[in-house]
Amino acid sequence: TAESYKRIDKVDGEVQAFLALNEEQATAQAKEMDQVPFEERGPLFGLPIGVKDNIVTEGIETTCASKILEGFNPIYDATVVHKLRDAGLITIGKLNMDEFAMGSSNENSAYKNTRNPWNLNHVPGGSSGGSAAAVAAGEVPFSLGSDTGGSIRQPASFCGVVGMKPTYGRVSRFGLVAFASSLDQIGPVTRNVADNAFLLEAISGLDANDSTSANVDVPSFTKSLTGDIKGLRIAVPKEYLGQGVGEASKQSVLDALKVLESLGATWEEVSLPHSKYALAAYYLLSSSEASSNLARFDGIRYGFRADNVENLMELYKETRAQGFGDEVKRRIMLGTYSLSAGSYDAYYRKAQQVRTLIKQDFDNVFEKYDVIIGPTTPTPAFKIGENVKDPLTMYANDILTIPVNLAGVPGISIPCGFAEGLPLGLQIIGKYFDEATIYRVAHAYE
Ligand code: GLN
Repeated sequence: TAESYKRIDKVDGEVQAFLALNEEQATAQAKEMDQVPFEERGPLFGLPIGVKDNIVTEGIETTCASKILEGFNPIYDATVVHKLRDAGLITIGKLNMDEFAMGSSNENSAYKNTRNPWNLNHVPGGSSGGSAAAVAAGEVPFSLGSDTGGSIRQPASFCGVVGMKPTYGRVSRFGLVAFASSLDQIGPVTRNVADNAFLLEAISGLDANDSTSANVDVPSFTKSLTGDIKGLRIAVPKEYLGQGVGEASKQSVLDALKVLESLGATWEEVSLPHSKYALAAYYLLSSSEASSNLARFDGIRYGFRADNVENLMELYKETRAQGFGDEVKRRIMLGTYSLSAGSYDAYYRKAQQVRTLIKQDFDNVFEKYDVIIGPTTPTPAFKIGENVKDPLTMYANDILTIPVNLAGVPGISIPCGFAEGLPLGLQIIGKYFDEATIYRVAHAYE
C-alpha cells in the first residue's frame, strides 16, 4: 500500500489516473491486517487495488467522473468492494473514467484527462481508462473496471494490460452505478493473466442483492492455467479482420494465431454475419437504458444541486443542465426518443431483435469451436483530442468489443505486440460462464 502511494505521488501528476485517494483509511486497514496470522492469508492478501469511480465505496467520494455527483459520499460498499476486502485486498483510491462510463477515451470525464502511460499524448482508452492506465503505470497491481460496450477490454488493449469482461451475471452489479443494466459487468484489470484469474475468482458469485447475478458455480480459474491447449478449436470471424480494421491489428492477431497453432490449437475462419448491426443496436439499447437509469439524478438525492432556482421543476432542469456533460445529454436524448411511444417499435424493439440475432451468431459458432479470437480494437490508442469532435468515429472504436456485451458472453483483452510504440490487444471470447477456457488460452499464449 505504501509503495503504491509513493508511485502515485511520483507519476500520477502526469498519468492522472486517480480521482480520489483514501490514504488514511487504507493505511489503517493495512496496519490492522498485519495482525492476521500467515496461515490465514490468501493469495491476494495485503495487496493494493484501485476501483473505478462508478463502483460505490462507503466514505470515499464516488462521482462517476460527473459533476452531478460532486461530493457524493455513498453510505455503503458495492458487493465487489466487500469481496475485495474479504480477499484481503486494500482499496486505495478511485479511478478516473468517462462520465457515467460513456466514452472510449476518458476525454468525457468532468474532472481530468487520464493519459496513456506509453505515450502521454495519447488516450488510455475508455471508459475504464483510469483503471487501465493506473495498472500500466505501476501505480497499482490490480484494478476494477466496468464494461458495458468494451470499456474494460478497449482501455486494457490501449494500455498493454489484461482486462476481462466476465459473462453477464458472473459478478454482482450491486453498487455499480447503472449505465445500461442489461449490459454492464464489473471485471478485473491486471498486469498478467494469472493475477486476473485470481481477482475474478475473488469477486464472482451469486448475490442476493442483484437479481441478475447468476446462480452458477465459480470454478477455480487459476487451476485452468495449465499451459495445455492441445486440440483447442479457435474460430476467427472474418468480420473482425475485415474493412476498417488496421493492418497492425490484423497482423498481430495472425502472429498470435501462429503461436497458438504451435501449441497444438487449430483455427478456422467463421462468420458472425450480424456484427455489422451491433454498433447501431448497442447505441440505441444502451442509451435507452441510460435515459431511464439516469432519471434518478435530480438534484434532490445525490451530489450536486443547482442554486438560484424558483421552483422544483426549475431545480430539476438546472441541476441536470449544469450537472451532466454533453455526451451524457446526447445519450439521454437519443434514449428518450427511442423509448417514446411513436418510435419504440421502429427503434427500441428493432434493436432488441437485432440483439437476439447477434446472440444467435455466437451460439452457432460456439457449437463447433471453443473460443473466438480477433483484435480488441481496430487501431492502437489515438491521440488526445483526435476524435472528440466526431462522436461517430469515437463510437467505431468499440466495433469489435460491443457484440460480446450484446450476447452476454465473456471476453478478455491481453497484450499482443506494438504498433508505433503503442500496445495492441488480442481479444479472446468464450462460451457463457466459460471464463476458465479463456484464461487457459490467454495464459498459454502469454
Ligand atoms: N464506448 C462505449 C460507450 O461509450 C463504452 C461503454 C462502456 O463499456 N462503459 O458507450
